[in-house]
Amino acid sequence: MSEVGRLREGMLVRHKTQGYIGIFDGFTRNRNLFESPTDSIGCRVQVGPGPQDKRRVASPENLEVLTDLSLEERHKAQLAFLGVAWEGIRRVDPTAPGRHRRTTHCWSCKSSLDDSVDVECVTCGWILCKCGACGCGFNMR
Ligand SMILES: [Zn+2]
Ligand SMILES: [Zn+2]
Repeated sequence: MSEVGRLREGMLVRHKTQGYIGIFDGFTRNRNLFESPTDSIGCRVQVGPGPQDKRRVASPENLEVLTDLSLEERHKAQLAFLGVAWEGIRRVDPTAPGRHRRTTHCWSCKSSLDDSVDVECVTCGWILCKCGACGCGFNMR
């Protein structure tokens, strides 16, 4: 089944056969760019974190929306997109000796974060947001 109706700009997507992960970046009607000549529309996918990174065009039925994944899987996909090694996520105990409870906001979606309820990314040590963002992506902007 095509997920084309669910696609929104900024969504994390994976190409089902080629395996690349990227950010959905809108549709194109330019037939010269289509992945398959039988497509009626093409999905532009940004395949790297930088603004200068390439875009690819995929058939709508070849894209899988990753928003339904568990937080851990989404975070893994996010780091794969960034080209950063995923080292896991962990729950921290902010009441442990030498630790302080941290509260902040997600740099990406602006949600409130609190390490007494949220997990952190082992790679960067930032609190991991429900949207899958952590410090790994922040450092690459
Ligand atoms: Zn967020
Ligand atoms: Zn991280």
